[in-house]
Amino acid sequence: MSSENFINPSYIFGLLDSAKRTSDAEITKILDKAERFEGLNHIEIASLLTTNKPEHIARIFGIAGKIKQHIYGNRIVMFAPLYVSDYCVNRCAYCSYNCSHEFGRRRLTMDEVREEVKILEQMGHKRIALEAGEHGKQCPIDYILECMRTIYDMKFENGAIRRINVNIAATTVENYRKLKDISIGTYILFQETYHQETYEKVHVSGPKKDFAYHLTAFDRAHEAGIGDVGGGVLFGLADPYFEVLGLMIHNERLDERFGSGFHTISVPRLCPAAGMTISEFPNLVDDATFERIVAVIRLAVPFTGMILSTRENHEMRGKLLKLGISQISAGSSTEVGGYAKRARKEIINPQFFVNDERTALEIITELMDDGFIPSFCTACYRSGRTGDRFMSLAKSGQIKNVCLPNALMTLTEYAEDYGDAPFKTKTASAINRELPEIANERMRQKTAENIAKIRTGERDFYV
Ligand code: SAM
Repeated sequence: MSSENFINPSYIFGLLDSAKRTSDAEITKILDKAERFEGLNHIEIASLLTTNKPEHIARIFGIAGKIKQHIYGNRIVMFAPLYVSDYCVNRCAYCSYNCSHEFGRRRLTMDEVREEVKILEQMGHKRIALEAGEHGKQCPIDYILECMRTIYDMKFENGAIRRINVNIAATTVENYRKLKDISIGTYILFQETYHQETYEKVHVSGPKKDFAYHLTAFDRAHEAGIGDVGGGVLFGLADPYFEVLGLMIHNERLDERFGSGFHTISVPRLCPAAGMTISEFPNLVDDATFERIVAVIRLAVPFTGMILSTRENHEMRGKLLKLGISQISAGSSTEVGGYAKRARKEIINPQFFVNDERTALEIITELMDDGFIPSFCTACYRSGRTGDRFMSLAKSGQIKNVCLPNALMTLTEYAEDYGDAPFKTKTASAINRELPEIANERMRQKTAENIAKIRTGERDFYV
């Protein structure tokens, strides 16, 4: 194992094995700690992943729901992916972009980027995740930077895309510095699997095959000054509990080295895609295991945002939102140029098949009906609350005094700009219900004033 590789499989498997013998008293102690919002280390997490006792499992779910409600309230942050290029030099067994899969590849021209962004803006999105395959020639860093510049330069009557998170292949400190300089939001990179043997098997060839280089990408991003990094694994490639421990060990290492762990954790599950056969993957994760994983991660890192994408269906999303998910995508297309194609009703050719085909407005309306507050907030990064600064505010509980006001103000903007009359009525009653939840009186008053101003046409308030 190289010094850069901090994932030791025999240690993790040994831990999962010995954790099965954790006493009831010890599990109760771990759960009590989680209930105090203190988070858990990977050794404690192993015990919660392996317990089979129904009373422990019920308590894990109960505490996850409690943490979610206490820290995030009813807010759900909304985003959409924007695929800009599907050229790829890697041969990843699970991905339709794999270079041995033949299809008409392309990257967006800047006019096409603008066309996609216009459609995303018409859906109300303010936060996007920019996605691309890895290809030094067809999709160099300068192309990604050009896309970002184009997007940030677009101003609409109702605002703009205010935060661009970027999900591109592991790269150099120099390239991360360029992303930092152009105001990247979160740099997102999924480890795919922390199990090196599986990693090397599913990444058949290409630069992504280098496990250690991929694993240390966030160290380089931090070195370049990117404080917000978002991790994740692609559930379905290896033993899911091994993956959760890998993620947590990675999180602890980032926390020790840089003062904050992951800003967000994504929990994608493997989906069917063109050019791969899903039945060939022996570690697909069933719904019950997946729910437990989301709940345990929520207990382990209560202040880390958890992202769920369109890979999950409507029913599953509903359950997971209660257990810990704090960010979801809506109205997504996972195809390069997919939003414009959808608008023109052309046949689609996605990176993988999404499980929730409803429009953004349908999803957002349903969230409101279920008592959630869809939030289009992008304030933290714009106010410099990133990395360890964000985490210390979150841990002190102060963040609540800014998140709820921002959520209510951006939801009002959304209702005014994109909602019909019934949606505006729903928004007004949600605001009446939630405003008293803002503990700080001055902030509550300011929020109410700003909401009134938004209703008369002013925009882009944030704290
Ligand atoms: N190329 C970038 C990299 O090297 O990390 C990432 C961009 S890729 C468009 C985003 C993510 O899609 C990948 O990290 C992978 O986890 C996910 N993905 C690929 N194939 C998938 C599938 N069949 N089902 C679900 N997610 C998939």
